[in-house]
Amino acid sequence: MSRLMAKTLREDPADAETLSHKLLVRAGYVRRSSAGVWTWLPLGKRVLDNVSRVVREEMDAIGAQEVLLPALLPKEPYEVSGRWSEYGDLLFRLKDRKGADYLLGPTHEEIFTLVVKDQCTSYKDLPVMLYQIQTKYRDEARPRSGVLRGREFQMKDSYSFDVSDEGLAESYALHRAAYRRIFERLGLDHRIVSAVSGAMGGSASEEFLAPATAGEDTFVDCPSCDYAANTEAVTFAAPAVDGAGHAPAQEIPTPDTPTIEALAAHLGVPASATLKNLLVKVDGEIVAVGVPGDREVDLGKLGEHLAPAVVELVTAEDFADRPDLVRGYVGPQGLDKVRYLADPRVAPGTSWVTGANKADTHARNVVCGRDFEVDRYLDVVVVEAGDPCPSCGAGLRLDRAIEIGHIFQLGRKYADAFGLDVLGREGKPVRVTMGSYGIGVSRAVAALAEQTADERGLCWPAEVAPADVHVVAAGKAVPLALAESAAEALSASGLRVLLDDRAGLSPGVKLTDAELIGVPWILVAGRRSGDGVVELQHRPTGTREELTLDEALARLT
Ligand code: ATP
Ligand code: MG
Repeated sequence: MSRLMAKTLREDPADAETLSHKLLVRAGYVRRSSAGVWTWLPLGKRVLDNVSRVVREEMDAIGAQEVLLPALLPKEPYEVSGRWSEYGDLLFRLKDRKGADYLLGPTHEEIFTLVVKDQCTSYKDLPVMLYQIQTKYRDEARPRSGVLRGREFQMKDSYSFDVSDEGLAESYALHRAAYRRIFERLGLDHRIVSAVSGAMGGSASEEFLAPATAGEDTFVDCPSCDYAANTEAVTFAAPAVDGAGHAPAQEIPTPDTPTIEALAAHLGVPASATLKNLLVKVDGEIVAVGVPGDREVDLGKLGEHLAPAVVELVTAEDFADRPDLVRGYVGPQGLDKVRYLADPRVAPGTSWVTGANKADTHARNVVCGRDFEVDRYLDVVVVEAGDPCPSCGAGLRLDRAIEIGHIFQLGRKYADAFGLDVLGREGKPVRVTMGSYGIGVSRAVAALAEQTADERGLCWPAEVAPADVHVVAAGKAVPLALAESAAEALSASGLRVLLDDRAGLSPGVKLTDAELIGVPWILVAGRRSGDGVVELQHRPTGTREELTLDEALARLT
């Protein structure tokens, strides 16, 4: 440590919001270069490399082959797939000296498809799984949270190529199992949850989430069955309702009821009995979205469902040329030529209080299927704790987590875009089907820090720690000599050792640093060094024991 390029800090960096950000900077693992761009110092590089090693071993074990594609990519393939424009501001774009357009790769489906198109001509060349561990670039809107969300970050991305749907399912299952082993070995507590399959439809997609308060994802899991999903992917089963026997719809004057709460209080009904209708523009077309009055619309979810269409909120100008749309009093009954999307809770037969399409007026006994029709059901409300589990009905739990991996049955989207065919068994061309699978390698380092750190600092699982043993010379002369011989013996037996041989620092400062750095075992040569006695601390449990050096070495090796 007298020569190590790593200075520990006593104070948290001013801009740090998350625990991992604070500790990785304070313990000298990383330094900020620019917003969302990080320098990995020696301790950090070791942890990053350990994560990469585990990922690499498990990818190799399922027969995936490592390659390295460029990060600097030409525009054309991303124009073919449509992502040059779809990615919007997330993409780092640049020009070369001749004015040709390039991008810095955010993910590589296009380029891998082209590699396989170039290399594989027959069904005999497939299946194939390729992966790389590489730097990715995304111009994230809010690159906070340190290396959890970088604009430059390390990702392991792999891609499978098969001739049949069964083959794809097999490649997907192999990846799923490898990911479980990877996160298990890394010591990351994780859940596998259903994710949104996106605009391609039909295909399976799951995320690996590491529960942590710093996480930007919310997921639900069921306390009584094994259902777990990203909140964006939760679906609600529409209740079966007997729609008979409702009184006819009736208009009621409701002055001064601008909010759902005021309306519900005025009428003496719960907010859940009212129907709220949000107007949005979908690729410029005004569309109404109906949800129960006590629920919020999740615009992100709505956008996911309707992608690649662009969803925007309506503005005052949009109302100006639509006298039929009365702001604050929209109801689905009598809406003319406006598509009506609704939450499944607005089921056929349900009766509602809603706007009467007249100022200061609402209508009651407005029945779905009798007084209005729903054009399309979509799960668009913000999921809340206690919502019924789609699989067993029990109340769901809501938790925050970090997305550490994502596996995805892409199907033929990219093969179609690039005409990726191989000659099939019958001599006819067969379109290839693909999977794509990512792990946030640098993000996993931060996720591990989030899950394992305590009030004293980082606390790495053995597999990823920057060293196996942190040897502290708590004193000059005799303690230093004992610490040096301990370090030498441990290294000789194959253990990775960090030796604190710094002069002029008190034992207290050195021990505080050792706890901050978070190597699993701390061996202290201090006051009793003259008797050959050292103290062995286990960082995760905090247990301490005085042992002879030989006993300590035997224990550690
Ligand atoms: P997020 O929703 O967090 O933005 P994503 O779904 O866009 O992530 P993917 O395209 O699925 O990310 O990328 C695969 C993996 O790469 C993610 O599961 C995540 O672990 C990691 N990753 C994605 N974006 C970042 C980032 N900005 N910084 C660090 N790791 C990232
Ligand atoms: Mg993802």
